Formats: sequence, C-alpha cells, structure tokens
Amino acid sequence: MSPPAANDSDAPGAASAVVPVLLPLPLGGAYSYVWSEERLGTAPEPGRLVRVPLGQRSLVGAVWEAEVDPVPPGRLRAVEAVVPLPPLPPALRRLVDWVAAYVMAPPGAVLRMVLASPGALEPEPLRQGVRLAEGGTGSGALRPTAARGRVLTVAADGLARTPVDLAREAGVSPSVVAGLIEAGALERVAWSEGRDHPAFTNLPSGPTLSRDQEAVAHALCDSVGAGFGVSLIDGVTGSGKTEVYFEAIAEALRRGRQCLVLLPEIALSAQWLERFEARFGEAPAQWHSDLGPKQRRRTWRAVAEGRVRVLVGARSALFLPFPDLGLIVVDEEHDGAFKQEEGTVYQARDMAVVRGQLEAVPVVLASATPSIETLVNCRLHRYRRLHLPERHGGATLPRVELVDLRRDPPPPLAPREPGWLSPPLREAVRATLDAGEQALLFLNRRGFAPLTLCRTCGHRFQCPNCTAWLVEHRLAGRLQCHHCGLAMPLPKTCPGCGDTDSLVPCGPGVERLAAEAAALFPDARRILLSSDSLRGPLAAAALLEQVRTREVDLLIGTQVVAKGHHFPWLTLVGVVDADLGLEGGDLRAAERTFQLLSQVAGRAGREDRPGRVLLQTRSPDHPVLLALAEGDREGFIEAEIDARRRGFLPPFARLAAIIVSAESAEAADGLAAALSRCAPRARELVVLGPAPAPLAILRGRHRRRFLVKAPRSWPLQRTLSDWLSQVAVRGSARVSVDIDPYSFL
Ligand code: ADP
Ligand code: ZN
Repeated sequence: MSPPAANDSDAPGAASAVVPVLLPLPLGGAYSYVWSEERLGTAPEPGRLVRVPLGQRSLVGAVWEAEVDPVPPGRLRAVEAVVPLPPLPPALRRLVDWVAAYVMAPPGAVLRMVLASPGALEPEPLRQGVRLAEGGTGSGALRPTAARGRVLTVAADGLARTPVDLAREAGVSPSVVAGLIEAGALERVAWSEGRDHPAFTNLPSGPTLSRDQEAVAHALCDSVGAGFGVSLIDGVTGSGKTEVYFEAIAEALRRGRQCLVLLPEIALSAQWLERFEARFGEAPAQWHSDLGPKQRRRTWRAVAEGRVRVLVGARSALFLPFPDLGLIVVDEEHDGAFKQEEGTVYQARDMAVVRGQLEAVPVVLASATPSIETLVNCRLHRYRRLHLPERHGGATLPRVELVDLRRDPPPPLAPREPGWLSPPLREAVRATLDAGEQALLFLNRRGFAPLTLCRTCGHRFQCPNCTAWLVEHRLAGRLQCHHCGLAMPLPKTCPGCGDTDSLVPCGPGVERLAAEAAALFPDARRILLSSDSLRGPLAAAALLEQVRTREVDLLIGTQVVAKGHHFPWLTLVGVVDADLGLEGGDLRAAERTFQLLSQVAGRAGREDRPGRVLLQTRSPDHPVLLALAEGDREGFIEAEIDARRRGFLPPFARLAAIIVSAESAEAADGLAAALSRCAPRARELVVLGPAPAPLAILRGRHRRRFLVKAPRSWPLQRTLSDWLSQVAVRGSARVSVDIDPYSFL
C-alpha cells in the first residue's frame, strides 16, 4: 500500500530502495517508502524504527516484513530519518502480526500498543548541570568567602548537579553559584537523567523452601533456558507461589536474561514491590497507567536497550520491546483484568503465552484459583500443573460458614434505614475486635447505593447515555454512571415530581456499609478501601501499610482488597452479599464468584491466628456457595468443567461476540438485520442474535450483539471476516469484534 500524495518525494536515484513501513495507526497494512542510501546508509533491517511523512504529519513507524508496492518509486515519499534505537526484535514483530490476526485488528493498531510511549522515540533531553571544573578547587580571581567555600565543598565530590540544586545543598543563593561558574571554578555539563537500572549481578539467596516449594522451584528453574513451555503454579493463597516464581526469576537473571512479570492491577501492588526488593535487594522496573510520560519514556528505552533486567507491569507491558526475554510470569492468571476491553481487545494472559512461544521462553502462570481455561489446558497436558497444597508455615485455611439471610435477616439500623449485617456477622465482628484482631467486611460494589428512587412518584435515576442506574456516591456528593463516567450533583428534590426529601437510596454499596459499621462499631478504627479511595499506588500503599501496622481494626472494601495483600492480623472476613455476581447470564459467573470469594476468604488468618469467613447469602444451596463452605475446590472445578463441556462453551468451543453500534436504534437495527441476512451458516456453527445488548445504550450509542460459537478447530477469524466484509458500515455506525469475550454486556 502507498500513502496518498507523493509530490514532495526525493527523486530516487540509483542508490535507493523501497521499504515497507508499518505505522502505529489502524491502517490496512504497511506503507511503502523510498529509502535513500545516500542520505541514510544501507537499507535498514526489519524492525528499525524510522520517521516518515504521512499527509501533513511526520511519524515513527517500524520497517516491516511485508510486500512492497508495485507503485513506481518515483511516486513514493521518502523515509526522513532513522530513530537511534535498537530495532524491534523479531519475536515482537511476529507477536504484533499474530495478535492482529487473532483479534482481527489492523497490525498498525497493535503496533500502536508497542510504540505506546512516543516520547521514548525522541532523543532523551539533556539536563544542564554544573560540576567542579577540571583542575581542582581554585576559584581563580574570586575572593574566597564562606558561601563560595560551602559550594565548593559540596561540589568536591565531582558529581554534576543543577545550579539550583547545588545552591540549595550548599545553603547559598543561586548568584553565588553563578559567580563561581563565571569565574571558571565550576563548569557546565549536560547529562541525561535516566536512572540506572539494577543489573542484578549479585543475587542474594532466597528463603529456605519447604519440600513442596523446593520441588516446584526446581521444576521451574529447569524450564528456564529450555525453550517454550507453560507451567501453572496452582496453590492456595499463602502457599508461597510468589516465593517460588522468584526462584525462576533468579535463574533467568543468572543466565543474563530479561524477565517480565504481569500482574492484574499493578497500582495496588506496593506490597509485591516491597517483597521483590526484600528478596532481590533491588527494585524492578515498572510499567502501568499511573506512570508519568517521563518515566514511561525512560523505561521504554531502557527495556529496548536491554538495560532493564526485570519489569513488572500491567497487561500493556506485554508489548514492550524486550530484546532478550528469558521468562514471562503471569500472576493471578485467572484475573479478568487481563482482558483489555477498550480499543484493541485482547487477553493479555493468553497473548503472554503466545509471546512465550514466539520467544521460545517459558511462561509461568500462578493462581490460587486458576481459570477453567488453564485447568483444562493442564488436563490436556498442554500446560504443566505444579501444585503447592499447603499454606506456608502450616497456617490453616480459614473456616467458611454460610449465613442464611432468610433465617437471620439483618436488623434495621433505624426506622427507614435498613441494615445489611446479619446478627451472626455482627457478633463475629464484635468478637474479633474484642480479641484485638482485624475484620474485613467485603462488598463488591462501589458507592453508597446502586439505585436511587423517589418515594413519592417512583422516579428512578437513570444515566441519560447508558442503560444503567446512576450510583450514589455520598462521600463525593454525586450520582455517577459507572459505564460512561457521567456525574451529577445529588439533587435535593425529585426531578419527577418536585417533592423534597423523598429520594431513597436502594441497596448497599461499600460507603453505606461503612456508615453501618460506624453506627455499630463506633470505637473501631475503620477504613474504606475501594477504587474511589485508593487513588494511585502511593495512596494505596499508605492505606495498606496502616492495615499491616494495626492502625486499623475494621476494613470495609470492594475487590481491591481481595488481591494478593497480606494482612497478618486479619482473622475475620464477612462477605456481605455472596450472591452478587452469581446472577446474570455470564458463562463465567459461577467461576468468577468462586474465585473472588476464595481470594477474599484467603485474606483471613494468614499467620498463626486461624481465620474465619462468613458468607451472607439468600441461596445457601447454590453449588458455588456449598463448594466454598465445604472447601471443595476440586469438586467445584469438576462440576464447572463438566457444565462447560455439556454446554459447548469455552474452552470446549470458541466464542466471538460481534457488537453493532450506532447513534440511533434504527441504524443499529438496520445494520444488525443486514448482518443477520448474510450470517455464516454451517452445521458446526451457532450464531445467536442479533439481540439488544444488556447495556442496550452505552455512552449514547445503541448496541446490538451477535454471539458466534464454533468448534475449537474452526477457522473462526476467516469465517468472521468473510461475513463482515459483505456488509457496508456507513456513517457513525460501527461493528466491533471481540474474540474470546469475557464481558457479555
Ligand atoms: P502466595 O503467592 O502463594 O500467596 P507467598 O509467596 O506470598 O504465597 O507466601 C506467603 C507468605 O509466606 C509470604 O509472606 C512469604 O514471604 C512467606 N513464605 C512463603 N514461603 C516461605 C519460605 N519458604 N520461607 C519463608 N517465608 C515464606
Ligand atoms: Zn452512562
């Protein structure tokens, strides 16, 4: 393909070639450009990052292995410059093409995730600093004063500092430093600020492992350097999974290779970072959405130049340009956060396995509640399952009890103010607090109440852009849509009937639970933990530290507390609504509820104090809750795998969702009907829909869904692209494809 407009191209002489360049844009493929050998040297190898013109713009793309256009070179535009960075490694280029084909996105859209830090492609800006001039401390023509002496004393170490920093450190005014520069006692230098990344050359040894841990660590270390293979570390919370994969990381470091660790929500992993530092003596590099542009830029370059040895990151770290990857770890592999739902839709855990295969390196998945997909892969011997059956140090698993809310309903707090904590849970919290231990009340719902209605006229507050109720966030004094982000102040009067004081919050969110906890346990030091209160890793770390140091007695939180945190004094977990999440037609509802509740339960009693978990439910006979109460994980897995097999559901079948959206219901219906008319027909395929999506209106767009089921071996992407290419999508309508969907909204 060639970009339009070619009138300003270099006149191609004898010493020029045509090179395909993939741009980080959702275009059809690579574009051809002329490479002038005279100006740029010999034609570049694939992966080289180059600056090229496109329309009025100039952007950085990557030289790609692709067909060059049959267009005469005279009509092509020219590569402007080469970016002085190592070329994108071959395995990463193959990953880009592989992911693009799999998720049915243009390769340029995937390349955009690779080149996600545009600043990294520019030369690093140099900082201006000063240091002691060559030739000693003589201040020449200047009279020695106390202030000048202090500056020279500080500068005596020969290090460069900015003039401002130097003046501050010496406790003098900047003019003193300026005078010394003028007199030639200090000289100006430019340096790049990038901090050096630790080389991990002297690895401290880890803790003495238990026999089980030792066996697993051994198996993992043996796999490092032995090519591609996937291992699952399957072990209860606290069994030492992290400790064990640290050994594999140490092995990869000993071999001089780079390591990538993917975590679901890196923002909340301050504890993970501390543990890593405690084990290895140095911090790993990090990659997540909270990084500022400067840090992203530097980390990206350091990865590309092979200076980063270990990087821990959220799912987007999968696309970093490691030149010498030796190991990939995906911790909490079952976590839904590995599925990116916006933009280019992909499953980072699955794509990590693909990258491992392309790089020919081992992939380690870890979880206390592995996904059904991964467990089935273990049964089919595609993955190896390594088991850690016991908690480290003999800590026992918590006792799980069900509280039947129909028998033990929560008493109201006051007339018209319902309560949400049943008598058994109240008593358990009281007893825990009396024993000087910590309790967690868990409810996976942000805000104060999920629905607000008017007692007088029945008006319900709905999002004007989405098929969703507005959630009251009392602390912020707002109603909020959790789908499009719309927020409005909480009104005093009902917009339906104008009545005042008639609005009632319905149902609980964590904020409401916190209010109940305040009323019931006024003396307990309480803390509310949700994504609304944990803004950024630093805030999160500070709050979690308070929990660990026992400055807090009672935690009230959403799923942000469920993951990975280790609280030695937490002995009681109360799940306020264990049924939440079991409703709805999501094929993973049971699996996810089981995982989440097991993870939460795993927070209790991690050291020598035994833990206790109370699950409040209205359906105590539900198989998920029974399995939790009986600690029968294997039974649950068996039943769930069987249900998937019988229902012809993943991983026994492949699924794809087609989502049609448009600005009007008519346009969405029209497009859906057109697609329906040419839907693929084959005995092996099931095409469901079109049906209004559960979120029939989202951000003002009307949505219809198809669901396609196919056997595992079916060439699903080809079927879908043949199908979708038959229908023209006009105006603002859109058709998007979600391969292996996790969200059915
Ligand atoms: P998991 O990742 O399975 O939840 P961790 O690796 O976090 O388990 O281990 C739980 C706790 O036990 C951590 O505090 C960890 O440092 C400690 N631990 C695990 N194994 C050992 C060991 N062999 N020696 C000392 N401490 C250990
Ligand atoms: Zn909305």
